Amino acid sequence: MVKVKHTPERTCVACGQKLPKRELLRIVRTPLGAVHVDPTGKAAGRGAYLCGSAACWQRAIHKGGLERGLHAQVCAPDREQLMAYFQQYVQQHAAGPSAAEE
Ligand SMILES: [Zn+2]
Repeated sequence: MVKVKHTPERTCVACGQKLPKRELLRIVRTPLGAVHVDPTGKAAGRGAYLCGSAACWQRAIHKGGLERGLHAQVCAPDREQLMAYFQQYVQQHAAGPSAAEE
């Protein structure tokens, strides 16, 4: 008998693709109004999810998809910080799984 494990799915705010939660990156708007990437997926606040596609990050961050997902404005320094995080994330993943572990 094959047991089907239920995987929670979330939608990328840029491309609308549904993916298992662990394959997406969560961006959170904290109750204090700061917007940042939430690597734990558990930070308090309103969250929006993005897949690992650079095009999605560009689109969500610069064309407003993220702001719609978070129901908030994202200021320029926060946008830069999110893109910086993503660049680093991509590099870590390109370097292999061991490099992704802190
Ligand atoms: Zn996407």
